[in-house]
Amino acid sequence: MFNVVGLNEFAGMANGNLHCWLCQKAVSTRALFCHHCGTIQPLRDIDHFARLGLERRIDIDMELLEHQYAALSRTLNPQRFMIRGMGERSHAAKQLEALNESYEVLREPLRRGRYWLSLNEKEFKKATDTHPFVKELRHELDTAAEPCQCDRVAQKAGQALQEGIMGLMQALRGQKWQEANAALIELDGLEAILGDVRSRRTKLTPEHDNKGGISGVE
Ligand SMILES: [Zn+2]
Repeated sequence: MFNVVGLNEFAGMANGNLHCWLCQKAVSTRALFCHHCGTIQPLRDIDHFARLGLERRIDIDMELLEHQYAALSRTLNPQRFMIRGMGERSHAAKQLEALNESYEVLREPLRRGRYWLSLNEKEFKKATDTHPFVKELRHELDTAAEPCQCDRVAQKAGQALQEGIMGLMQALRGQKWQEANAALIELDGLEAILGDVRSRRTKLTPEHDNKGGISGVE
């Protein structure tokens, strides 16, 4: 049962425009396999939700996501296509690659939020200004003279990131696109700061601290 999860739905309605590359019968956009001959289909331009067989919603059931991903990965396992022809092997590989990408986007709230905004992008003016709090943290990091100051910046940025993701989700649920866009810009800034904390910290840590006394800390 696990192995065929979603396949009925995936083979679902044929839309009349697409045809199986092998038997030429009609197939649906979402079909992984041809309903008639069972052959794997080429990669189609469908959204990440459809690729995982999920409803298109900002809040997703993580358990269902994991379940769908596991089942579809097994279905697309390269070993299953080893004795198939070049065409089928290549379609399966591309399908698997796209599946992995869709899964990565959907499981990360921030990436999912960004993707959701791009799916729903309307006529709004994209904010580009750096968020005041991000500016403040950036300044704090750039002028940090001690490693512990870097740690404090990291802590503040990490906390703001968690809160920001919740705010982003709320804005997206309420279809407040401007607000969501502003939240994303702040979150991007916070992520960049978190990325820079490490290198700044390394610069501030005297070399003998890295090499000396305490071993096994790494
Ligand atoms: Zn076919």
